[in-house]
Amino acid sequence: MAKFRIVVTAGDGIGPEVIAEGVKVLKAIGKKYGHTFDFRYELLGGSAIDATGEALTKETLAECNKADAVLLGAVGGPKWDNPSAKVHPEDGLLALRKGMGLYANLRPVKVLPMLVDGTNLKPDVVRGVDLIVVRELTGGLYFGRPKRRYTTTRGRRAVDSMVYSEQEIARIIKVGFELARSRNKKLTSVDKANVLETSKLWRQIASEVAKDYPDVKLENQLVDSCAMRLIQDPKSIDVIVTENMFGDILTDEASVLAGSMGMLPSASLGATPKENERISGLYEPIHGSAPTIAGQNIANPIATIMTAAMMLRYSLALSKEAKIIEDAVFNVLTEGYRTVDIMSAGMTKVGTKEMGDLVAAKI
Ligand code: NAD
Repeated sequence: MAKFRIVVTAGDGIGPEVIAEGVKVLKAIGKKYGHTFDFRYELLGGSAIDATGEALTKETLAECNKADAVLLGAVGGPKWDNPSAKVHPEDGLLALRKGMGLYANLRPVKVLPMLVDGTNLKPDVVRGVDLIVVRELTGGLYFGRPKRRYTTTRGRRAVDSMVYSEQEIARIIKVGFELARSRNKKLTSVDKANVLETSKLWRQIASEVAKDYPDVKLENQLVDSCAMRLIQDPKSIDVIVTENMFGDILTDEASVLAGSMGMLPSASLGATPKENERISGLYEPIHGSAPTIAGQNIANPIATIMTAAMMLRYSLALSKEAKIIEDAVFNVLTEGYRTVDIMSAGMTKVGTKEMGDLVAAKI
């Protein structure tokens, strides 16, 4: 029995709907195993801009830094899309990741057997896929300076900068090696070393760090060919480690393997996770705020529910309870319940709330 302080930022669009189901499932775990989850709700992204003018206030960041873990719903939507606005919802998310020192985003992609027919790919290609992408989260193109739009006498221009230090690269590569060591001992480091200087440094440091992991096989792959391999032969991949933007794009692609964006969880951490050790982290489904389906009770809450399971495992040292959640999801899907994004013939269609109820009831 233990007490945990969880900050919940429900976000925008479908964020509050799917987060409510994640919280519902955590409450079911708390009730069953006698844990107390002290949920504290904070605003982030568009809802925070509306209320305070800022996408992330200092107070919210301080609350997040005091918490055992943060459960986050995606931010953003057309209401805040104006490119000339001073502040955007994503600014809050990037500032929160940076402000909590979370440089490693772990995105597992596991294809569940009952969903192999539900993707656009051949069942034989996706059956048995079980890989994890380690995405660098606080460097690269999304943070590098200079970064601005400006006007010259010859017209408008814009610049983004991809910058990495050797320390930033080494620490994320280590997370990749540690995870690979705990799995099938194969690490694929993804870069664009034929063109980018940051990638040349990335590749050099990957081979330096590899010396400390002689039991793990390192392979280097260019991001463009990795994008192809992910849909041609995803089973040949175990752990990918890559920089921020490549990881962002590759994991959206990888979500197709699992049948829907609504299936994939993620954890953002500031250290390598170890069994039964507690490290604070930020837990978010990989999908966005999906504004076109918001408010209709049709979003898939499974990504958020699996994200809550990752939170139990990595930040609260509750591996047994995490597995209970994963098994509950597995059993509900085995019984044929589906949200619309993963619906197929002969299955029973349910809404966001009903899916959350079904999983909570299994606990
Ligand atoms: P998105 O992930 O919101 O949606 C992509 C597609 O997947 C859409 O067809 C959507 O309907 C579907 N989808 C997403 N989540 C789903 C779920 N749980 N169940 C069923 N279907 C689901 O990406 P987008 O449309 O590119 O972006 C929408 C907004 O979200 C934008 O404002 C974007 O900036 C923001 N966004 C936020 C985050 C974040 O906060 N972490 C991440 C990505 C995008």
